[in-house]
Amino acid sequence: MAVEHFDVLIMGAGLSGIGAAHHLQQDCPKKSYIILEQRERIGGTWDLFRYPGIRSDSDMLTMGYSFRPWTNPKAISPGEDIREYITETAREAGIDRNIRFGHRITAAGWSSKEANWTIQAICTLPDGTEEPVTLTCNFLLSCTGYYRYSAGYNPDFPGIGRFHGRVVHPQKWPEDLDYTGKRVVIIGSGATAVTLLPAMAKTAGHVTMLQRSPTYIASMPAEDKIANWLRGVLPPMLAYRLSRWKNILYMFLMYQLAQFAPAMVKGGLIKKVRAALGPDFDVKTHFTPRYNPWSQRLCLVPDSDMFEAVKSGRADIVTDQIETYTETGIQLTSGIVLEADIVVTATGLTLQAFGGAELSVDGHPVELGSTLSYKGVMLSGVPNFAAVFGYINASWTLKADLISAFVCRLLNFMDTKGVRQVTPTTNSQKAAANFVEKFSPGYMQRAVADWPKQGSDSPWRVYQNYFRDIASLRWSAIDNDALRFSNPPRTGSVST
Ligand SMILES: Cc1cc2nc3c(=O)[nH]c(=O)nc-3n(C[C@H](O)[C@H](O)[C@H](O)COP(=O)(O)OP(=O)(O)OC[C@H]3O[C@@H](n4cnc5c(N)ncnc54)[C@H](O)[C@@H]3O)c2cc1C
Repeated sequence: MAVEHFDVLIMGAGLSGIGAAHHLQQDCPKKSYIILEQRERIGGTWDLFRYPGIRSDSDMLTMGYSFRPWTNPKAISPGEDIREYITETAREAGIDRNIRFGHRITAAGWSSKEANWTIQAICTLPDGTEEPVTLTCNFLLSCTGYYRYSAGYNPDFPGIGRFHGRVVHPQKWPEDLDYTGKRVVIIGSGATAVTLLPAMAKTAGHVTMLQRSPTYIASMPAEDKIANWLRGVLPPMLAYRLSRWKNILYMFLMYQLAQFAPAMVKGGLIKKVRAALGPDFDVKTHFTPRYNPWSQRLCLVPDSDMFEAVKSGRADIVTDQIETYTETGIQLTSGIVLEADIVVTATGLTLQAFGGAELSVDGHPVELGSTLSYKGVMLSGVPNFAAVFGYINASWTLKADLISAFVCRLLNFMDTKGVRQVTPTTNSQKAAANFVEKFSPGYMQRAVADWPKQGSDSPWRVYQNYFRDIASLRWSAIDNDALRFSNPPRTGSVST
């Protein structure tokens, strides 16, 4: 049977994959494309995670797409509303007709001879059997997010086999878990733990958040009053754009302030927590991190829900280390034992690039750790390939939109020029820093060596700065010394 061929193949039907397809339909209407999605539904993260209270921790006015207004009054929004927004976007634009579900991409090999990618996927049939599928495409766009879907990160805590209660990870939340009246211990201090705490405290007997060290937590109103007012008086798209820019500027200034005056920002954040929890609460132990604001992602909580849960007495926070699980709970190094019926290991994600697919160029495996990232979008020595990776200090979609639009511009440029291959080529540029700089959460530390690096100069820098990226991805000319355009020779491999 002939192998099916597409101009563009998008990996993943999450927030980024659907956004990329929308840009492609709009800016490159003649290109054929297909989305391969390993799961059975649209939504990625917002379909996978089903734990109580799951919601965004950035505002949806910046996490929504640039081309489709977010009209829900809640700016900090429940996961199911985000999933619905992504699904509706796909349905409205007919993108859903171009998705093949149940297709997990395992490998992609570039051939300079053919100037195309051969994609290997495993298709899971309705009866559960699996069969291999091969497709080809001219351009490969990875929208697989940044973490492993099959399982989250689960540290090997001592004595876990002894525990008689239930242990659950938020990435695989059991549908049948009834925690009404139960004693729950949540291990972790990140966005997931601070979301779970107030949500579970509503019906659980008691909830304890057990953290090794504290995180910065800031409350913001779930509803953005200005955005909601603007929506009442202006056409939806205009109101959305204004609110979006308001929030982009606010978050940008906050981040810059944290870089230039960390002590001041730290003081301000801690002061607000103290005001929320009252003078008797031990804010120094439980809410004063050792690092500066934004060295790790800052956790936003809507309408102080987490602080309210702690104040109500239905939940508390313990800052300590785990010595061992016991039959009935967790023993800490301080000697304290936390009795528990259920332990939730909100211990994080395992980073994974390109959904675990193995990339190769002319038969040579691509070693990601030895590549340089071109503008945070392409990889040195890897032709006709781009990947979406969003911001760590702002909403993911801000960068996803810029990347997708950039890819469309690149494809149109290649058509105009009559070339079939584009290869980022480092020339004398050397690795100077990790893909993401000045960002130290555990999941990043564990994986950073195996991720692409960045150079010291543009266009080999990966910015965490929306305004620099607008200049780099939207305004700058496509053609430059670092991109080699060619109509491929019949032999030879591509150098980095
Ligand atoms: C719990 C949680 C909360 C978050 N909250 C925020 C937030 O508030 N704000 C923010 O900006 N960011 C947040 N993020 C980051 C979040 O991942 C992004 O906002 C966004 O969802 C990323 O979209 P994506 O489409 O790039 O990736 P994903 O949502 O991860 O989607 C990737 C898709 O690719 C598919 N896929 C993966 N591998 C393969 C493969 N080999 N073959 C085929 N398909 C594959 C997956 O099944 C999935 O559908 C959060 C992340 C998590 C885990």
